[in-house]
Amino acid sequence: MSNKPMILVVEDDAAVRNLMAVTLDTQGYQYHLARNGSEALMEVTTHQPEVMLLDLGLPDMEGVDIIRKVRGWSSMPIIVISARAEDADKVEALDAGADDYLTKPFSVDELLARLRVALRRVHAEQQAAGGETPIYENGGLQIDYAAGCAYMAGSEIHLTPIEYKLLCLLAKNTGKVLTHNYILKEIWGSYTASDVGSLRVFMAMLRKKLQSDGGAQPYIQTHIGIGYRMLRIDRPSEESQ
Ligand code: CA
Repeated sequence: MSNKPMILVVEDDAAVRNLMAVTLDTQGYQYHLARNGSEALMEVTTHQPEVMLLDLGLPDMEGVDIIRKVRGWSSMPIIVISARAEDADKVEALDAGADDYLTKPFSVDELLARLRVALRRVHAEQQAAGGETPIYENGGLQIDYAAGCAYMAGSEIHLTPIEYKLLCLLAKNTGKVLTHNYILKEIWGSYTASDVGSLRVFMAMLRKKLQSDGGAQPYIQTHIGIGYRMLRIDRPSEESQ
């Protein structure tokens, strides 16, 4: 993955879209452009952008509905950029889960400043969730990243290299739904639609091994048609029996 942050621009007005594209490009950001709501949702799932810049008035759906949909499974920062200056519109967007709101016409400098704030938040969260802790603990599950071993209730779980990589990817994103495409790209570097079937098989094996302690506690949740999520487990499974 490139170090340049990936920004998704959702805007049906070609002139505004081009202005944003040129601005992001000159500032060293990568970007994807969506002209309507369905393109936006497609881009969010396929490219996992770090921040979304969202126009509220789109030809096929309300921007607020996009915010609600995306918030069902992602905490990515969403900055609304809208000509609607009414407080009621702002409140509705923020209530739906938008992080910030800019009114058109907007200043490019202000847009970039808001974007930097959003990216700082993303990176702070990634660091908090990320690789600094050498031991991952969740319920009865432990992963020793330095040793490359995983344990359930103190006993080592024997994993294939792919299963171990899958487990680490899910663990590092505990609580977040990871899409099939995202997992396939992270583990195998590429994907085709048929790979989703193999992923399902690997996940089934991994899940079986995680439950070999006899615990009924599910660690990995399936989101049918979307992907998988590592759940945060409060206490070791044996205590709940
Ligand atoms: Ca519009």
